[in-house]
Amino acid sequence: SVMVGRRVRRKRAWRRVMRVLEELEEGCATPVERLRQVVDAMSVEMHAGLVSEGGSKLKMLLTFVHNLPSGSEKGTYYALDLGGTNFRILRVQLGGQRSAIIGHYVDSRPIPQHLMTGTSEELFDFIALSLKDFVEMEENISEHSPSERRELGFTFSFPVKQTSSSSGILIKWTKGFVIEDMVGRDVSECLQQAISRKGLDMRVNALINDTVGTLAVGHYHDEDTVAAVILGTGTNACYLERADAIIKCQGLLTTSGDMVVNMEWGNFWSAHLPRTSYDMDLDADSPNPYDQGFEKMISGMYLGDIVRRVILRMSEELDVFGPESSKLHVPFILRTPLMATMHEDDTPDLREVAKILRDTLEFPEIPLNVRKLVVRVCDVVTCRAARLAAAGIVGILKKIGRDGSGGIASGKNEGASRSKMRRTVVAVEGGLFTNYTLFREYLNEAMTQILGEEIAPSVIIKVMEDGSGIGAALLAASHSTSSVDTIQ
Ligand code: BGC
Ligand code: MG
Repeated sequence: SVMVGRRVRRKRAWRRVMRVLEELEEGCATPVERLRQVVDAMSVEMHAGLVSEGGSKLKMLLTFVHNLPSGSEKGTYYALDLGGTNFRILRVQLGGQRSAIIGHYVDSRPIPQHLMTGTSEELFDFIALSLKDFVEMEENISEHSPSERRELGFTFSFPVKQTSSSSGILIKWTKGFVIEDMVGRDVSECLQQAISRKGLDMRVNALINDTVGTLAVGHYHDEDTVAAVILGTGTNACYLERADAIIKCQGLLTTSGDMVVNMEWGNFWSAHLPRTSYDMDLDADSPNPYDQGFEKMISGMYLGDIVRRVILRMSEELDVFGPESSKLHVPFILRTPLMATMHEDDTPDLREVAKILRDTLEFPEIPLNVRKLVVRVCDVVTCRAARLAAAGIVGILKKIGRDGSGGIASGKNEGASRSKMRRTVVAVEGGLFTNYTLFREYLNEAMTQILGEEIAPSVIIKVMEDGSGIGAALLAASHSTSSVDTIQ
């Protein structure tokens, strides 16, 4: 009869949808053996990127930061943090004693969408104006008028070829920014000119990547901090390298013998990465195809959109998702914070999932089994992302001999010596890590799986709230002539 026919059809459709899910799970699988291959590939690519310019998809950029803040920095500094979903302005007061950040005041605003794809002048004028407003307001409240010229650390979270610790040229845009006239230009100069246009007396005296700011703050609070990772809208890492290991830059002299290297790991690629057709489609539709492959599998800008693509694929098989015209076709409509909310919905009937599917994607009432399916999809996508990020981190540790695989004092008692691995801290910043509990848990779990139960406790992941911003102020201070020199 008609009824039976419909039931059979629905059953078949459901089977096809389950097949889509299984394929996704297979495609995204990250067993620990595979993660170890990613670890190795990461450390091999790091070497290659240090040997020659263009030697790897990892740019391994020089930062000219060779002394991390010592704790003696003193005075009031401003910082500007641009490169994520929001841009932030900070005023940081440093007390001249380790961990004596007396206070900091933050203004955070979303970057208007049209400024991300307009001209550099429009973007920087907007920023400089916001900066001016903030400075005037803060100095009014604190009744503080600076005796010297104000100094600013600029966190600009895109790939920059530094020409000094306070200047550098934009190599390319990422994370949805497309401002053609900026590529190849000096970033600090663009900001400095806009600041002058607005009649603000302020000097840009540090230009840094957000990873570097995070490392600076991490190191300020804890000297065992050797690397920093951003897991937010985008993803990247930096770490402290020996200057003589930076072979592509022969004769690089630094006062400390070290230099922070900005890896730009978002562009990492390896055949070992578990890539699906959804990733390929997302890449092809992006403004930067063939670029930032690792970032597109990991970071907050993209995870929600991978999920959207999978649900769209499922909706082709199952008509419960409602009319074709649904919002499901709109790129980036399913933001990662919404995805996290669905993933972490602990109501028995998945009410949050239903609400988001209804409000954001304009689906009709979705049955419970389909809501569960959506949660599964979120889980697969986030689990892969977090585990790959963990493999990336261990790749860095391996490169610097802190993964416990070698360089540990060898003794008769292997067990005892292994457990003596040096304490190693990795500073982390970014909303994906701080706001998405399951992402964080998957990352921690994978770290332990890769490193093993004995080594894992020596590696500490520490969240640095506002790290990139405060770090810029710290570095502005340590570059400043009015602050105590940091050469140790
Ligand atoms: C940029 C990096 C940045 C990272 C995190 C990436 O898209 O290329 O420079 O550190 O995002 O913000
Ligand atoms: Mg940021």
